[in-house]
Amino acid sequence: MIVSAGFDAAIGGAFGLLVGSFLNVVIYRLPKILERQWADECAGLAGKEPEEQPEFNLTRPRSRCRQCSHMIRWYENIPVLSYLALRGKCSACGTPIGLRYPLVELTTAGLFGMSVWQWGVTPAGAAWCGFCAAIVALALIDWDTTLLPDDITLPLVWAGLIVAALHWTDVTLAQAVWGAVVGYLSLWIVYKAFKLVTGKEGMGYGDFKLFAALGAWFGWQALVPIILMASVIGAVIGIAMKFSSGLREGGYVPFGPFLAGAGLTAMIFGPQSILRVVGL
Ligand SMILES: [Zn+2]
Repeated sequence: MIVSAGFDAAIGGAFGLLVGSFLNVVIYRLPKILERQWADECAGLAGKEPEEQPEFNLTRPRSRCRQCSHMIRWYENIPVLSYLALRGKCSACGTPIGLRYPLVELTTAGLFGMSVWQWGVTPAGAAWCGFCAAIVALALIDWDTTLLPDDITLPLVWAGLIVAALHWTDVTLAQAVWGAVVGYLSLWIVYKAFKLVTGKEGMGYGDFKLFAALGAWFGWQALVPIILMASVIGAVIGIAMKFSSGLREGGYVPFGPFLAGAGLTAMIFGPQSILRVVGL
């Protein structure tokens, strides 16, 4: 049993490497694709023709070195292994390749392996792999651009509700629905109150949708532990960045990565374990 579970988890991990490689593309390209769409919509509203631009989507054009435009060949694109073989440098110009690429691949592999280990090769195992992939993409897109694209957050809400409706997890449909509703509304209220008092926007609508998704996946009971963990870690890192003057312009720390981190913790250890760590 253990051996076969370990084998399944290893296969899950290998699949996670491939998905992680794709997530690297999504994280880099999706915000750019959205920016183009918005620019086209703005042009449309202003009554102008959208600018003609070369095709750009998740699969096209092929990946190139951002420094020298060297086309990345298939054998230079094997998760983790190519990075090691190339010693983290472009084969044409020697520009370093971000360590983040292999790290995203390894993290996704680890999460997929863990999901399959815990839930086996089952619909639930597959669903949690999908959850992990979405969460990793959201965390890094938000960190880079302070955007949480609807294209990922909204399907994640629906997926959580469907998984509950199909009884793939212990969360009942009622718990999932209330999780999504209360998750969204609670942050929306905090946002409105914060704006009323300070005149500033402390969060974005993407944060409400991500929290709603976590409510759908873990049920309403998990909302308090998740928001506690995300807030505490977010505050600690925000303060640390302030002191190390690592804050970007405007001093804004996105909240999504911390919600995402709390969501992954809830998946791995169970939502209630978070409360035990905080001492509640
Ligand atoms: Zn290059």
